[in-house]
Amino acid sequence: IVRLNKLNKHFGDFHVLQDIDLTVTPGEVVVIIGASGSGKSTLIRCINGLEEFQQGELDVDGNPLLPDGKATQALQKIRTEVGMVFQQFNLFPHLSVLDNVILAPMKVRGLSRDAAVETGERLLARVGISDQIDKYPTQLSGGQQQRVALARALAMEPRLMLFDEPTSALDPEMIGEVLDAMRELANEGMTMMIVTHEMGFAREVADRVIFIDKGRIVEEGPPETIFDSPSEAPTQSFLSRVL
Ligand code: ATP
Ligand code: MG
Repeated sequence: IVRLNKLNKHFGDFHVLQDIDLTVTPGEVVVIIGASGSGKSTLIRCINGLEEFQQGELDVDGNPLLPDGKATQALQKIRTEVGMVFQQFNLFPHLSVLDNVILAPMKVRGLSRDAAVETGERLLARVGISDQIDKYPTQLSGGQQQRVALARALAMEPRLMLFDEPTSALDPEMIGEVLDAMRELANEGMTMMIVTHEMGFAREVADRVIFIDKGRIVEEGPPETIFDSPSEAPTQSFLSRVL
Protein backbone atom coordinates (compact mmCIF):
# COMPACT_ATOMS: atom_id res chain seq x y z
CA ILE A 1 0.00 0.00 0.00
CA VAL A 2 3.06 2.22 0.43
CA ARG A 3 6.08 2.04 -1.84
CA LEU A 4 9.15 4.26 -1.64
CA ASN A 5 11.89 3.78 -4.18
CA LYS A 6 15.23 5.54 -3.70
CA LEU A 7 13.54 8.47 -2.03
CA ASN A 8 15.86 11.41 -1.31
CA LYS A 9 15.06 14.59 0.50
CA HIS A 10 17.19 17.65 1.25
CA PHE A 11 16.61 20.61 3.52
CA GLY A 12 18.86 23.05 1.67
CA ASP A 13 22.33 21.49 1.86
CA PHE A 14 21.25 18.93 4.41
CA HIS A 15 20.53 15.48 2.98
CA VAL A 16 17.88 14.40 5.47
CA LEU A 17 16.60 11.22 3.73
CA GLN A 18 18.97 9.12 1.66
CA ASP A 19 17.88 6.44 -0.81
CA ILE A 20 14.96 5.23 1.25
CA ASP A 21 13.50 1.98 -0.12
CA LEU A 22 10.44 0.83 1.74
CA THR A 23 7.35 -1.20 0.96
CA VAL A 24 4.45 -1.59 3.35
CA THR A 25 1.83 -4.23 2.63
CA PRO A 26 -1.86 -4.01 3.60
CA GLY A 27 -2.44 -4.86 7.25
CA GLU A 28 1.22 -4.52 8.14
CA VAL A 29 2.32 -2.66 11.28
CA VAL A 30 5.70 -1.01 10.75
CA VAL A 31 7.48 0.70 13.62
CA ILE A 32 10.22 3.22 12.85
CA ILE A 33 12.90 3.82 15.46
CA GLY A 34 16.05 5.90 15.52
CA ALA A 35 17.85 8.71 17.31
CA SER A 36 16.58 12.27 17.49
CA GLY A 37 17.22 14.04 14.21
CA SER A 38 17.62 10.83 12.20
CA GLY A 39 14.72 11.74 9.89
CA LYS A 40 11.81 9.71 11.26
CA SER A 41 9.27 12.55 11.27
CA THR A 42 10.43 13.76 7.89
CA LEU A 43 9.93 10.29 6.42
CA ILE A 44 6.43 9.97 7.85
CA ARG A 45 5.53 13.46 6.66
CA CYS A 46 6.69 12.70 3.11
CA ILE A 47 4.27 9.80 2.95
CA ASN A 48 1.19 12.00 3.25
CA GLY A 49 2.68 14.86 1.29
CA LEU A 50 3.31 17.18 4.23
CA GLU A 51 6.95 17.36 3.09
CA GLU A 52 8.25 17.41 -0.46
CA PHE A 53 11.05 15.17 -1.63
CA GLN A 54 13.54 15.81 -4.44
CA GLN A 55 14.35 12.44 -5.99
CA GLY A 56 12.87 8.99 -6.08
CA GLU A 57 9.39 7.53 -6.17
CA LEU A 58 6.62 7.47 -3.64
CA ASP A 59 3.32 5.71 -4.16
CA VAL A 60 0.50 5.42 -1.63
CA ASP A 61 -2.32 3.04 -2.53
CA GLY A 62 -1.78 3.54 -6.24
CA ASN A 63 -1.43 7.33 -5.98
CA PRO A 64 2.04 8.44 -7.08
CA LEU A 65 3.52 11.59 -5.57
CA LEU A 66 6.02 13.51 -7.67
CA PRO A 67 9.32 15.11 -6.60
CA ASP A 68 9.39 18.78 -5.60
CA GLY A 69 5.75 18.72 -4.62
CA LYS A 70 4.57 19.02 -8.23
CA ALA A 71 0.83 19.28 -7.85
CA THR A 72 -0.96 16.09 -8.66
CA GLN A 73 -4.43 14.74 -8.10
CA ALA A 74 -2.69 12.08 -6.04
CA LEU A 75 -2.00 14.42 -3.14
CA GLN A 76 -5.68 15.10 -2.65
CA LYS A 77 -6.48 11.38 -2.67
CA ILE A 78 -3.62 10.54 -0.34
CA ARG A 79 -4.76 13.12 2.17
CA THR A 80 -8.21 11.54 2.32
CA GLU A 81 -6.91 7.98 2.51
CA VAL A 82 -4.14 8.48 5.05
CA GLY A 83 -4.84 9.35 8.67
CA MET A 84 -2.22 10.91 10.90
CA VAL A 85 -1.82 11.30 14.64
CA PHE A 86 0.87 13.69 15.85
CA GLN A 87 2.74 14.17 19.09
CA GLN A 88 0.74 17.36 19.67
CA PHE A 89 -2.89 16.41 19.37
CA ASN A 90 -3.78 19.26 17.00
CA LEU A 91 -7.48 19.21 17.85
CA PHE A 92 -9.55 22.26 16.89
CA PRO A 93 -9.82 24.11 20.24
CA HIS A 94 -13.02 25.97 19.36
CA LEU A 95 -14.91 22.79 18.43
CA SER A 96 -16.44 20.21 20.74
CA VAL A 97 -15.04 16.69 20.77
CA LEU A 98 -17.85 15.43 18.57
CA ASP A 99 -17.52 18.34 16.14
CA ASN A 100 -13.78 17.68 15.87
CA VAL A 101 -14.56 14.15 14.75
CA ILE A 102 -17.43 14.85 12.33
CA LEU A 103 -15.99 17.91 10.56
CA ALA A 104 -13.81 16.23 7.95
CA PRO A 105 -16.23 13.42 7.07
CA MET A 106 -18.89 16.07 6.37
CA LYS A 107 -16.61 18.54 4.54
CA VAL A 108 -14.36 16.17 2.64
CA ARG A 109 -16.40 12.99 2.29
CA GLY A 110 -19.74 14.77 2.01
CA LEU A 111 -21.47 12.78 4.74
CA SER A 112 -24.73 14.12 6.15
CA ARG A 113 -24.51 15.42 9.70
CA ASP A 114 -26.61 12.50 10.98
CA ALA A 115 -24.38 9.93 9.31
CA ALA A 116 -21.22 11.66 10.53
CA VAL A 117 -22.57 11.86 14.08
CA GLU A 118 -23.45 8.19 14.07
CA THR A 119 -19.96 7.22 12.95
CA GLY A 120 -18.36 9.76 15.29
CA GLU A 121 -20.23 8.46 18.32
CA ARG A 122 -19.26 4.90 17.47
CA LEU A 123 -15.58 5.78 17.10
CA LEU A 124 -15.52 7.87 20.27
CA ALA A 125 -17.11 4.97 22.16
CA ARG A 126 -14.47 2.68 20.78
CA VAL A 127 -11.67 4.86 22.18
CA GLY A 128 -13.52 5.25 25.49
CA ILE A 129 -14.61 8.89 25.19
CA SER A 130 -18.41 8.45 24.99
CA ASP A 131 -19.15 10.49 28.09
CA GLN A 132 -17.07 13.50 26.95
CA ILE A 133 -18.36 14.18 23.46
CA ASP A 134 -19.80 17.62 24.22
CA LYS A 135 -16.68 18.88 26.00
CA TYR A 136 -13.97 21.02 24.43
CA PRO A 137 -10.41 19.74 23.95
CA THR A 138 -8.97 21.88 26.78
CA GLN A 139 -11.37 20.19 29.19
CA LEU A 140 -9.81 16.78 28.50
CA SER A 141 -6.63 15.13 29.71
CA GLY A 142 -3.80 14.64 27.22
CA GLY A 143 -4.56 10.95 26.91
CA GLN A 144 -8.22 11.70 26.21
CA GLN A 145 -7.29 14.36 23.64
CA GLN A 146 -5.02 11.94 21.86
CA ARG A 147 -7.77 9.31 21.75
CA VAL A 148 -10.08 11.93 20.23
CA ALA A 149 -7.38 12.68 17.66
CA LEU A 150 -7.30 8.96 16.84
CA ALA A 151 -11.09 8.81 16.50
CA ARG A 152 -10.99 11.89 14.28
CA ALA A 153 -8.46 10.27 11.96
CA LEU A 154 -10.44 7.02 11.85
CA ALA A 155 -13.64 8.90 10.96
CA MET A 156 -12.20 9.41 7.48
CA GLU A 157 -11.97 5.62 7.07
CA PRO A 158 -8.26 5.74 6.26
CA ARG A 159 -6.51 2.96 4.39
CA LEU A 160 -3.29 3.77 6.24
CA MET A 161 -2.59 5.36 9.63
CA LEU A 162 0.60 7.28 10.37
CA PHE A 163 1.67 7.98 13.95
CA ASP A 164 4.51 10.32 14.92
CA GLU A 165 5.40 9.83 18.59
CA PRO A 166 1.74 9.81 19.64
CA THR A 167 2.56 9.33 23.32
CA SER A 168 5.63 11.54 23.72
CA ALA A 169 3.70 14.56 24.98
CA LEU A 170 1.69 12.54 27.50
CA ASP A 171 2.10 12.11 31.22
CA PRO A 172 3.28 8.58 31.95
CA GLU A 173 -0.02 7.43 33.41
CA MET A 174 -1.83 8.30 30.17
CA ILE A 175 0.48 6.55 27.75
CA GLY A 176 -1.10 3.16 28.32
CA GLU A 177 -4.61 4.20 27.32
CA VAL A 178 -3.39 5.56 23.98
CA LEU A 179 -1.21 2.53 23.28
CA ASP A 180 -4.18 0.27 24.11
CA ALA A 181 -6.31 2.05 21.51
CA MET A 182 -3.52 1.70 18.94
CA ARG A 183 -3.00 -1.97 19.79
CA GLU A 184 -6.70 -2.61 19.21
CA LEU A 185 -6.51 -0.89 15.85
CA ALA A 186 -3.51 -3.01 14.88
CA ASN A 187 -5.35 -6.17 15.90
CA GLU A 188 -8.26 -5.16 13.68
CA GLY A 189 -5.92 -5.21 10.70
CA MET A 190 -5.26 -1.50 10.12
CA THR A 191 -2.11 -0.76 8.14
CA MET A 192 0.03 1.38 10.42
CA MET A 193 3.37 3.18 10.35
CA ILE A 194 4.41 4.25 13.83
CA VAL A 195 7.31 6.36 15.03
CA THR A 196 7.69 5.69 18.72
CA HIS A 197 10.14 5.48 21.58
CA GLU A 198 7.92 2.93 23.35
CA MET A 199 10.10 -0.09 22.70
CA GLY A 200 7.94 -2.55 24.64
CA PHE A 201 4.94 -1.55 22.57
CA ALA A 202 7.00 -1.74 19.38
CA ARG A 203 8.13 -5.26 20.17
CA GLU A 204 4.57 -6.32 20.85
CA VAL A 205 2.65 -4.82 17.90
CA ALA A 206 5.21 -4.45 15.11
CA ASP A 207 5.33 -6.87 12.23
CA ARG A 208 8.53 -5.13 11.22
CA VAL A 209 10.88 -2.67 12.86
CA ILE A 210 12.90 -0.20 10.81
CA PHE A 211 15.95 1.48 12.29
CA ILE A 212 16.92 4.82 10.73
CA ASP A 213 20.27 6.49 11.30
CA LYS A 214 21.30 9.79 9.71
CA GLY A 215 18.60 9.57 7.07
CA ARG A 216 19.27 5.98 6.01
CA ILE A 217 17.53 2.72 6.73
CA VAL A 218 20.36 0.86 8.41
CA GLU A 219 18.52 -2.27 9.41
CA GLU A 220 15.03 -3.73 9.38
CA GLY A 221 13.39 -6.94 10.41
CA PRO A 222 10.98 -8.62 12.81
CA PRO A 223 11.02 -7.06 16.29
CA GLU A 224 12.69 -10.10 17.88
CA THR A 225 15.61 -9.82 15.48
CA ILE A 226 16.05 -6.06 15.74
CA PHE A 227 15.69 -5.88 19.51
CA ASP A 228 17.44 -9.11 20.52
CA SER A 229 20.14 -9.53 17.91
CA PRO A 230 20.65 -6.42 15.77
CA SER A 231 23.44 -6.94 13.27
CA GLU A 232 24.52 -3.36 12.58
CA ALA A 233 26.68 -1.32 14.95
CA PRO A 234 24.50 1.85 14.89
CA THR A 235 21.43 -0.22 15.79
CA GLN A 236 23.28 -1.92 18.63
CA SER A 237 24.53 1.40 19.93
CA PHE A 238 21.08 3.05 19.73
CA LEU A 239 19.34 0.15 21.46
CA SER A 240 21.94 -0.05 24.21
CA ARG A 241 21.09 3.57 24.99
CA VAL A 242 17.29 3.26 24.95
CA LEU A 243 16.51 -0.26 26.17
P1 ATP B 1 13.02 13.37 16.76
O1 ATP B 1 13.19 11.99 17.33
O2 ATP B 1 13.74 14.39 17.57
O3 ATP B 1 11.60 13.73 16.49
P2 ATP B 1 13.35 12.87 13.89
O4 ATP B 1 14.03 11.58 13.63
O5 ATP B 1 11.88 12.90 13.78
O6 ATP B 1 13.81 13.38 15.35
P3 ATP B 1 13.30 14.91 11.89
O7 ATP B 1 12.32 15.80 12.56
O8 ATP B 1 12.80 14.12 10.74
O9 ATP B 1 14.00 13.94 12.95
O10 ATP B 1 14.50 15.81 11.43
C1 ATP B 1 15.62 15.28 10.77
C2 ATP B 1 16.63 16.35 10.55
O11 ATP B 1 16.13 17.32 9.66
C3 ATP B 1 17.02 17.11 11.81
O12 ATP B 1 18.41 17.30 11.79
C4 ATP B 1 16.29 18.41 11.72
O13 ATP B 1 17.01 19.44 12.34
C5 ATP B 1 16.19 18.62 10.23
N1 ATP B 1 14.97 19.34 9.86
C6 ATP B 1 13.71 18.95 10.15
N2 ATP B 1 12.81 19.82 9.64
C7 ATP B 1 13.52 20.78 9.02
C8 ATP B 1 13.18 21.95 8.27
N3 ATP B 1 11.90 22.30 8.08
N4 ATP B 1 14.18 22.69 7.77
C9 ATP B 1 15.48 22.35 7.95
N5 ATP B 1 15.87 21.25 8.64
C10 ATP B 1 14.92 20.47 9.16
MG1 MG C 1 10.36 13.45 15.04
